Amino acid sequence: TALVVAVDGPSGSGKSSVSRAAARALGVAFLDTGAMYRALTWAALRAGVDLADADAVARHARTVALVMGTDPAAPTVAAVVDGVETDLTEAVRSPEVTANVSALAAVPAVRSDLVLRQRALIESACLAPAPGREPGVVAEGRDITTVVAPRADVRILLTADESVRLARRAHQDLGAADAAALEATRRGIVERDRVDSRTTSFTAAADGVVTVDSTHLDFDGTVAAVLEVVAQ
Ligand code: C5P
Repeated sequence: TALVVAVDGPSGSGKSSVSRAAARALGVAFLDTGAMYRALTWAALRAGVDLADADAVARHARTVALVMGTDPAAPTVAAVVDGVETDLTEAVRSPEVTANVSALAAVPAVRSDLVLRQRALIESACLAPAPGREPGVVAEGRDITTVVAPRADVRILLTADESVRLARRAHQDLGAADAAALEATRRGIVERDRVDSRTTSFTAAADGVVTVDSTHLDFDGTVAAVLEVVAQ
């Protein structure tokens, strides 16, 4: 039988890297749903779509096919625009995409479209796992435990104190960049969390969702804590 693990959490909670490591340990697929919102944002920006125009954003999003590589050892995301597939694994991490993704993610018609695509990907990871992989998936995002897969076998909210999240994210995005750039990153994260929290409720655990707080855990400790919840 297949194993579906849903992980939600805010920016800098470590959910992406932790979920990836957990998927690897469990031998199942890994689905980064944030990468899907990011890929549609990249495509909208490239097409010159006005991100403030919800109808235009939703209409454009429907024309973009996404190809998700769900191998936890090397997850990828690509978009097919006008029949041409473009790998976006690096491009979706750009500051421009990061600064605009919350606006796209706030459009309800985009969300319902992506929720359906995400459910299909989860189902295929369960019914038709890639060769050598176990049936199942660790899917991470902001609304997986509540909207995309509320009946997942395991549902986890990964949290960490805000100061710790900001420090981790700044470190991740910039390495040893200067203080002004770090401050800009901090402000960007706070703003993204603020907009995102109006769209999805990723800061409080829904009924039946187990909270894993990584404030005082290192990376390996957090992965172990997640795997422990899965094993329960
Ligand atoms: O997790 P990541 O930072 O890549 O997510 C990028 C953005 O995608 C988030 O800031 C949020 O606006 C959106 N998102 C979402 N629901 C998800 C995953 C991501 O709204 N399940």
